[in-house]
Amino acid sequence: MRLRNIPRAESVLSEHDKVVKDEKTYRGNWGQVFGNSNPIHIEIGMGKGQFLLKLAGRNPQINYIGIERYSSVLLRAVEKYEEEAEEEGALQNIRFVCMDAAEIGEVFSPGEVDRIYLNFSDPWPKKRHAKRRLTSKEFFARYEGVLAEDGRVEFKTDNGDLFRFSLEQVEEAGWKLTACTWDLHHDKEMNAGNVMTEYEEKFSAQGNPIHKLVASRKD
Ligand code: SAM
Repeated sequence: MRLRNIPRAESVLSEHDKVVKDEKTYRGNWGQVFGNSNPIHIEIGMGKGQFLLKLAGRNPQINYIGIERYSSVLLRAVEKYEEEAEEEGALQNIRFVCMDAAEIGEVFSPGEVDRIYLNFSDPWPKKRHAKRRLTSKEFFARYEGVLAEDGRVEFKTDNGDLFRFSLEQVEEAGWKLTACTWDLHHDKEMNAGNVMTEYEEKFSAQGNPIHKLVASRKD
């Protein structure tokens, strides 16, 4: 994601009612934030938000939390929320958090999250940065600390090296691969109901196949 510092980002986000500040104080109490006990699905590295906003519109019975590290990027998602919430007059089931996903265990309690989406995560191509990849075994251990027992991680990318690495890490982390395709858009079963992200639209338009895996904790 190309980053440009947007000076007003911090102040807009700090005043927006759907951006959760002091996120660590809600650990174990996210139901309170939404005012219900619906399942919680999160996207880590939500970028400009197209994917999560569309899911939130489709599934009002699910609570969605979009996590993004950079305020200038999250600002775009919040602006998109403003446009779409106005159009649909709804979207009460989404919140945004500006944070580094490495801290996820301080923000959610064990079992509090039902699903984690990772879409076109940064590849961190240098081997010495492998631990920073959101599909490294170190991150799977963090996900294990917050996911419900029957929860799952869904990951999409067009990056073959990152996808191969991620498949290995699922195994090394002791997780179970429950579904996998190297060409999502030509896989009728796995593509059913697929919601495209900004990156997915861009890279599939360039002819790149999209890879997807679904992983769950081993019981
Ligand atoms: N998911 C979007 C899509 O598919 O269009 C955006 C993909 S973009 C390549 C990856 C995003 O993940 C960037 O906006 C980046 O800032 C965010 N990101 C990367 N590492 C992160 C982390 N540790 N915590 C939170 N966000 C992260």
